[in-house]
Amino acid sequence: MVNSASLKDCFFYKDKTFRVSIQWMNQKALPTEQYQPAYIEHIANIITHGIWIFPSILGAVELFQRSQDRAQFVSAVIYGLTLILLFSVSTFFHCTFYLRHYSILKELLHRCDRAMIYIFIAGSYFPWLTIEQIPNNGWASSMKWFVWVMALMGITYQQIFHEKYKRLEMIFYLIMGIFPAIPIISEHYFAGWMEIFTGGTLYLIGTIFFKCDGVIPCAHAIWHLFVSMAAYCHYYAILNYLYPIINIRSDKLNY
Ligand SMILES: [Zn+2]
Repeated sequence: MVNSASLKDCFFYKDKTFRVSIQWMNQKALPTEQYQPAYIEHIANIITHGIWIFPSILGAVELFQRSQDRAQFVSAVIYGLTLILLFSVSTFFHCTFYLRHYSILKELLHRCDRAMIYIFIAGSYFPWLTIEQIPNNGWASSMKWFVWVMALMGITYQQIFHEKYKRLEMIFYLIMGIFPAIPIISEHYFAGWMEIFTGGTLYLIGTIFFKCDGVIPCAHAIWHLFVSMAAYCHYYAILNYLYPIINIRSDKLNY
């Protein structure tokens, strides 16, 4: 015979266990402190970028194989490396953060993870500014080196004021992501601008979640998802418009 009181306790017990074991986020961190993700957030952060390491290696190899001239080879190496490093540094950082035992390594990787955002933005511009024939009479051609100067300035700032002025850091990311695109798109027609625009919009939407740790559950993992989708959009455009397969076929026909 089942006692009604013990049955009630049992349900209570099960309900309590469920609530304790699935904690979707922790308390919001103070402005100068680092947010401590909940267990599920740690796992989500690792998975959402970890799954892209291998595809990004394949993607870089594909660009390299399709390369027909020096500009394409150099772009495949630079852009391909920044793409692989973006996902691998991020995954390595989130793994170390989750393990909690290597605080110095975690701190170093956190700085590298943030620096990779600047490097990746410059890397994403690189193929468009190198393979495309940008006219030399405007601002767009200057962006070739200016994006790297901006990346260097951003990294220097980020290393000095690491985690201090988070909103300002976000503004720097946005300036670096958007500003060089204005003269480039206004001075030169790009086949693939729709994909570039879509990718840029996805990055912008993603930034809403970048600083929502402790407000929205798994906010950082959602930011990762937007970064992955945006990076895919830009890769798709680079692959199809700057490394068209038709080049290889037509060259083979000429042999
Ligand atoms: Zn991350």
